[in-house]
Amino acid sequence: KYMTSAEIRQAFLDYFKQQGHEVVPTSPLIPANDPTLLFTNAGMVQFKDVFLGDDKRDYSRATTAQRCVRAGGKHNDLENVGYTARHHTFFEMLGNFSFGDYFKPEAIRFAWTLLTEVFQLPKERLWVTVHHSDDEAERIWKEDIGVDPERFSRLDEDNFWAMGDTGPCGPCTEIFFDHGPEVAGGPPGSPDEDGDRYIEIWNVVFMQYNRSADGEMTPLPRPSVDTGMGLERIAAVLQGVHSNYEIDLFQNLLKAAAAAVGTDDLNSKSLRVIADHIRSCSFLITDGVLPSNEGRGYVLRRIIRRAIRHGNKLGAREPFFHKLVAALVAEMGEAYPELAKQQDQVERVLLKEEQQFARTLDNGMRLLQQAIDELDGKVIPGETLFRLYDTYGFPVDLTADVAREHGFGVDMDGFEQAMAEQRERARATGAFSVDYNDKLDLEGETAFSGYELLEDSASVV
Ligand code: ATP
Ligand code: MG
Ligand code: MG
Ligand code: MG
Repeated sequence: KYMTSAEIRQAFLDYFKQQGHEVVPTSPLIPANDPTLLFTNAGMVQFKDVFLGDDKRDYSRATTAQRCVRAGGKHNDLENVGYTARHHTFFEMLGNFSFGDYFKPEAIRFAWTLLTEVFQLPKERLWVTVHHSDDEAERIWKEDIGVDPERFSRLDEDNFWAMGDTGPCGPCTEIFFDHGPEVAGGPPGSPDEDGDRYIEIWNVVFMQYNRSADGEMTPLPRPSVDTGMGLERIAAVLQGVHSNYEIDLFQNLLKAAAAAVGTDDLNSKSLRVIADHIRSCSFLITDGVLPSNEGRGYVLRRIIRRAIRHGNKLGAREPFFHKLVAALVAEMGEAYPELAKQQDQVERVLLKEEQQFARTLDNGMRLLQQAIDELDGKVIPGETLFRLYDTYGFPVDLTADVAREHGFGVDMDGFEQAMAEQRERARATGAFSVDYNDKLDLEGETAFSGYELLEDSASVV
């Protein structure tokens, strides 16, 4: 009998509570007052100002289970979903934090004790890395903890963590779990480390600097600690499975997705993508993001359309995506009451988006398939990307996702070029301007120059 995801989340928070940490609720996916960040991408985000010394709390140790989205900005895992066992667009990060309280020795000790004593993981399957400059962390691991030097290494960029291009950052030490020789991949720092045999489970960051826009690093008022462990990854370890998608939390989601699209293949890659995407989309809508053609809303729209396309690939011919919200609420509504409360709204928003995209998806896919069949090279040209984007509402990353399945690349420069020409034409004719990642509003505006619009797609990009 294994620990469920819910039990693991609770055990983590309980452990750090016992060690004097305040249990702080998860914050929303839209960071409060932080225009530098697209989405909350780590547990430390809600404490950014505390690290910087601009905000005071009445506790100096905290622990959270934080909902995170990594689908844009500095930490972007959208392209990894469906291709690795360990990446999601939405995941929960378990963390403990010290605001000028404890530092390296205690932080390392806490992590090791939780993993090897509370969770009883075998030490010989844990690998450790530290930043190449960090003699102190190496000494603590080797002398105080007694970690085997065979499973220890010093690394460079991977062991320096930063929230974004600016903000709190510092060297870190990471703990990996060895899923065994049946899985391809080398240990951290080795040439084939990108495989999924050695999976990073916990990152312990020694927050020491604030990086400014010009790259300068100023020391924080007090050295601090910020850690993050992916709930889905530690659940996979504790439940004896390799892929995150095999854990308890995903089983019912995958079944619901299979039923909604009408497939029996629970291991289908597309099904995993759909199960992943329903989490990020539902939580983003819960936190106030709506599909649109700019900024955060466009990231949401892109994720929804990718999910719809994968469902379509599996044979779905009717809206299916919104039907998965109920299964998600059953799985996560207890831990996240705000999600349960907004179930209707989330379903409505998704259904509307499905109905809209349905009007151009089939024709767009036909055009794309034709382009792929007729191409000489292995790169989808910019004009095709642009036409799919402009006329059929295919975000360019969606087209790239399809292309990748056929072993094709996309000509991004050509796409940008076509976009620039479009903008130029719009300026010349005094029409509205278009910008990828910027506003593209065709509602009522169908006077497009240069490109033939399908009748039914005029207001549907
Ligand atoms: P990786 O190298 O595997 O991409 P990372 O180094 O980018 O992970 P961190 O920024 O250190 O991840 O985040 C802390 C922890 O959060 C990771 O150790 C991992 O357990 C978890 N995590 C990070 N990204 C994801 C993701 N996309 N999906 C699920 N869990 C994640
Ligand atoms: Mg990563
Ligand atoms: Mg990493
Ligand atoms: Mg890391």
